[in-house]
Amino acid sequence: MLASFFDSVLSLIVRTSTDLPPDVRAAMGTALKAEPADTRSGQALTIIAQNIDLAVDSEGAICQDTGMPTFEIKTPVGANQIWMRQQVREAVAEATRRGKLRPNSVDSITGKNSGDNLGPGTPIVHFEQWERDELEIKLILKGGGCENTNAQYALPAELPHLGRADRNLDGVKKAVLHAVWNAQGRGCSPGAVGVCIGGDRTSGYTHAKEQLFRTLDDVNPDPRLAELEASVMATVNNLEIGTMGFGGNVTLIGCKIGALNRLPASFFVSVAYDCWAFRRLGVLLDSKTGAIERWLYRDPSSPIVPMADQAGLVRTGREIALRAPLSDADVRALQVGDVVLVSGAMYTGRDAVHAHLMKHEAPVDLRGSVLYHCGPVVVKEGDRWRVTAAGPTTSIREEPYQGEIIKRFGVRAVIGKGGMGAKTLAALKEHGAVYLNAIGGAAQFYARTIERVDGVSLMEFGTPEAMWHLTVKDFPAIVTMDAHGNSLHRDIEQESGKHLESIIA
Ligand code: SF4
Repeated sequence: MLASFFDSVLSLIVRTSTDLPPDVRAAMGTALKAEPADTRSGQALTIIAQNIDLAVDSEGAICQDTGMPTFEIKTPVGANQIWMRQQVREAVAEATRRGKLRPNSVDSITGKNSGDNLGPGTPIVHFEQWERDELEIKLILKGGGCENTNAQYALPAELPHLGRADRNLDGVKKAVLHAVWNAQGRGCSPGAVGVCIGGDRTSGYTHAKEQLFRTLDDVNPDPRLAELEASVMATVNNLEIGTMGFGGNVTLIGCKIGALNRLPASFFVSVAYDCWAFRRLGVLLDSKTGAIERWLYRDPSSPIVPMADQAGLVRTGREIALRAPLSDADVRALQVGDVVLVSGAMYTGRDAVHAHLMKHEAPVDLRGSVLYHCGPVVVKEGDRWRVTAAGPTTSIREEPYQGEIIKRFGVRAVIGKGGMGAKTLAALKEHGAVYLNAIGGAAQFYARTIERVDGVSLMEFGTPEAMWHLTVKDFPAIVTMDAHGNSLHRDIEQESGKHLESIIA
């Protein structure tokens, strides 16, 4: 029965996780050209471009967060969907074993990671029948950072900086602009949005995510929606949120809008935000063998053109070398906007570690340390560990804990993405520490700054949540919150809010 089906699904997963589709590459290439190389966004985009190339060359995960695997499968009438679902699940588990997917399926009650990306609700597999003989499988891997920036609006609504959003296309545009503004850099901008007008709360989000299966360069067949998409794209980049929320000319690389009928009493606008690491691919399979007949979204006759024309960070000569452990004087000398290259010891810690440290002693001495908000992909080779993907995770989740942890353990630098809030900013000032924004999604680039894994603590939380002890060399990041009370994130949010007001004025 469909002897090649399993291998085809496995190839689809591996390729989706490691190789961005051509339309996304083209959009990111345009973004790269739009930002001067020596600006914060320009430097970040150069790292992203190198990361995209490294992922293809090494067949490594583009981003360490390989997201929620979501399969959309079309089958001929009579196909055995029960068997196919089981094969898809086995292929997901195998891709996880091979380190192409990070174990991402967590029991919502116990917090235990299943370790193989299987569990209730994961992966997501939707089937639909069609009249054709072949099978179509599309896959999207959408990570948690951008998933957390999804938004749903019930119109009419009063929106900050935008005023009233009515039940019409102008109100929809306001809702989309608000969602993008609210996301700032937390969804790893520049991103793309899938939007659904109407439906109910559930179908609205589903249809919004389905829009992300459209290519970024297509034109909506509905002229009213085509005009709305063009209108959003014509204005959204004036917000100057830029790459990772660093400020800049490109905030969004795509806006795709669909519509469903709604109940008379409801008018939902659902926005699914995807990051620059916009991983979606598809295949057409022979319905007798399950072998791949054709790849979707890519032209096999066109070779993959490298994104970056250089290796390493674009150096301006102003980079500051930091070596951990750090002193009070080291961090107080830093200002928002400084680009730093961190070397020495670094410890990972995300949600489980932060919750643990609120009630327990640290497993290592964290005085002067650099704490990295990161859930890496790590593989065991013999008796040694090797990190294969290690970009930053969204920091704001640790806001309730971070200030206390800086105070109690003497942490001097926190690295993550998207910035943190007022409580952490106050703690940085009071206790002498800084927040460093790394480039979200640049998992391959950062994995190569890790010289070795020195150990691991709290492994009972699972691989992504454990505390990994790393030695790094020239790990680049930008000071976005300093020890003097300054925050680039706060400034960009306020400035982009003013731009929103001028857009609708
Ligand atoms: S690029 Fe950013 S938002 Fe996207 S999956 Fe990676 S960490 Fe999450």
